[in-house]
Amino acid sequence: MVEVRAQRDLRDGRSPTSSGTTSKPLADDDVPAWWQRLGLPGLFDVHVHFLPPNIEAAVWRQFDHAGPKIGREWPIRYRGTQDERVERLRALGVRRFSALPYAHKPGVAAYLNDWAAAFAAEVPACLLSATFYPEPGVGEQVDRLVRDGVEVFKLHTQVGEFRLDDALLEPAWDRLEQSGTPIVLHVGSGPVGNEFTGPEHLGRLLARHPRLRVIVAHLGAPEYAAFLALAEEYDDTWLDTTMVFTDFFDDAGAFPDELLPRLAALGDKVLLGSDFPTIPYPYAHQLESLERLHDRHPSLDEAWLRRVCWHNAVRLFGEPPVT
Ligand SMILES: [Zn+2]
Repeated sequence: MVEVRAQRDLRDGRSPTSSGTTSKPLADDDVPAWWQRLGLPGLFDVHVHFLPPNIEAAVWRQFDHAGPKIGREWPIRYRGTQDERVERLRALGVRRFSALPYAHKPGVAAYLNDWAAAFAAEVPACLLSATFYPEPGVGEQVDRLVRDGVEVFKLHTQVGEFRLDDALLEPAWDRLEQSGTPIVLHVGSGPVGNEFTGPEHLGRLLARHPRLRVIVAHLGAPEYAAFLALAEEYDDTWLDTTMVFTDFFDDAGAFPDELLPRLAALGDKVLLGSDFPTIPYPYAHQLESLERLHDRHPSLDEAWLRRVCWHNAVRLFGEPPVT
């Protein structure tokens, strides 16, 4: 098992199976053929990070030193320049993706959002992404962002150390319930939980704002069952696959077999997410890990993959611009 994993880690751009002996996307070079075989026009990845270079460098240092909110060794695979990473996504066929800045303290959201707006203006494949934080004026700020056409928000309660039902956030939730703008929420307790993570936080928010269009990052790991229950209860609670089912994640707390039928039943609300570029394995491994779910449950088949990797996100965000 150790050898198998070491071999997999050695693989990067080159595939030992690119002669066509297998249909599994074992290496990044195989990814375009993989989605073409599914009959898709490309991939739609709702969970990608691009941050201002100085902030990005600070975040990466946390990963490099296995900081307290990371909790384990986490060698970042895609360390190129931002231009190189945009090109890498293009080469993979990721036709639409997010940037997902997130504020870790008061006073930084506006800076992150200005940067993300400039980035999206330069990179048409990127969704206009923004964040906010419980601080005075957040209601007006979110209203302005919605009117400016923000397509997706991101909040990270573990890093930001705030509660989703913080009273300061109320006007922002009211506005977002009205606009229907999707919000990617990292509120599950992986990789390291704290008092601001866990399904009860989202449960309390949705009880007050049931129409919020929420995307639960990482399928809510590790509290999968409780987050799946929220997606079952609330029409506009969605889930992203980010890092779940990969070998790396399985080491820390695998998605339980008994939940797979419920994951299949939620097939219209599950979205491809990857966490590119801060992943410790090739991008292709996320797709491979989704494809091999079929071995564990028959309904997690190619039709399910087509919905997850493209159609659900198009329903949520609209058709990508022609590029
Ligand atoms: Zn992320």
